[in-house]
Amino acid sequence: MNARRRTASAQTALVWFRRDLRLTDNPALLHALEHAERVVPVFVYSPDEDASWAPGAASRWWLHHSLVALDAGLRKIGSQLIVLKAADSLSALRDGLRKTGATLVCWNKLYEPAALKRDARVAAALDDDGVSVEQSNGALLFEPGTVLNQQSLPYRVFTPFWRTVEKLLPTLPPPSKAPRKLPPVPRGLAHVAIDDLELLPKNPWDEGLAASWTPGEIGAARQLKQFGKHVASYPTGRDRPDRVETSRLSPHLHFGEIGPRQIVAMLRHSGHGASQAKGTDSYLRQIGWREFAHHLLFHFPDTTDAPLDKRFAKQKWRRSAADLRAWQRGATGIPLVDAGMRELWRTGWMHNRIRMITASVLTKNLQIHWLQGARWFWETLVDADLANNTLGWQWVAGCGADAAPYYRIFNPVLQAKRFDPLRGYIRHWVPELARLPDRWIHQPWAAPAAVLQRAGVELDKTYPRPVLDLGESRKRALQVYSQLR
Ligand code: FAD
Repeated sequence: MNARRRTASAQTALVWFRRDLRLTDNPALLHALEHAERVVPVFVYSPDEDASWAPGAASRWWLHHSLVALDAGLRKIGSQLIVLKAADSLSALRDGLRKTGATLVCWNKLYEPAALKRDARVAAALDDDGVSVEQSNGALLFEPGTVLNQQSLPYRVFTPFWRTVEKLLPTLPPPSKAPRKLPPVPRGLAHVAIDDLELLPKNPWDEGLAASWTPGEIGAARQLKQFGKHVASYPTGRDRPDRVETSRLSPHLHFGEIGPRQIVAMLRHSGHGASQAKGTDSYLRQIGWREFAHHLLFHFPDTTDAPLDKRFAKQKWRRSAADLRAWQRGATGIPLVDAGMRELWRTGWMHNRIRMITASVLTKNLQIHWLQGARWFWETLVDADLANNTLGWQWVAGCGADAAPYYRIFNPVLQAKRFDPLRGYIRHWVPELARLPDRWIHQPWAAPAAVLQRAGVELDKTYPRPVLDLGESRKRALQVYSQLR
């Protein structure tokens, strides 16, 4: 934060929107309104600033629609979003400052390594220019660095981290309301149309995304309200991929269309009763995982590409373009895995349990590097999030903080029996197997020939044989992991 100039009042302030695409409980916007007479909302599209983790295709789709929604929200209250495209944010902001005469820039912090570096550079340069900078936290419950263990070190295990955070929850300020009115932006400010950012795909593969989501603050609020009604069933329902039991707020949270503080406030005040309270606690614990992931990435920035647990740095991985492709396309011949990968491709989202299972099959059974999986998720998830994705993949691969033990290798057949008991998830996403009876649909390779024939399934013709033997590959993986340890 710019200590020297932080409290200076200004005639005009720029609010630099990034991944805080909302008007409610937006601390940067609030600060600008309190300290300036005119407020100019700006979004700078500069994907090359983090070339190694630039947004993937599904994220770009979401971003387009989220920007359209934010602009519409701003227009309703008298303003608009000034969208700029630039090689670097600093030059775009300087241009904006020159054209508006603004002397204050406010933004909400991001905590990923590249964003932190960029923001430090921008803040220092603006400070040199004599411009005030105010950086706020709108993305997390508590800022990284403020939740430490008794030795003042970052937590590497989730449960004690969450115990500490839970105690701090009552200290959170209540979320602030969206402004009812904003001053108009100065006339004639140069900006580009959202369409000109070319975020949407050239070949229209996004129908499934459009049918599944409503990006933007209104969509996020609606989703939270809907989820609030059945939070009581979350602890038991959250592992059922065949039902809508989780909140599906992840892309909204990633783009900051809703903040975690709003979620805490809404759920804590949404009802009474033991099951409601239990559901809320269980759900907030998941918000805690998000918090943990962001704090970890802040403290261990190289984990986006390297294992946190250095013992795993020397792990040898298999290379198989054919197996990787079969996994990506949902054609491994293992129905639960294929269902998940197809859900991802079609909707840009996958249920958490299925993320764990598909990741386990890739990294453990197929022995393909977790980064290859992380990269595919990065390209295809609408909620692709560097902190959560890194934590998720390293957890499954067994090389991260608080990781799954090396011997935990999810068996997709047993997992299907347990978590897709009616086989509705597999039937929906792998319709070519739909007529197989429950006993065989999650393992068609084991079904008697007559059963396959009656169901119209011809292995390797209508549906592939498995790319691996689950039992053999499990044994091999256990050997590799026990040597590494
Ligand atoms: P809910 O169950 O409703 O949870 C509410 C919120 O809590 C989520 O929206 C999310 O923000 C957070 N959350 C829940 N579980 C986790 C978790 N395990 N780690 C961190 N935060 C969590 N989540 C992402 O947001 N982006 C990713 O790129 C991502 N990649 C993943 C990769 C792998 C291999 C795995 C195993 C998990 C990954 N997750 C990721 C975590 C989790 O699967 C999703 O957050 C969750 O499925 C989103 O659905 P939801 O909003 O309905 O979740």
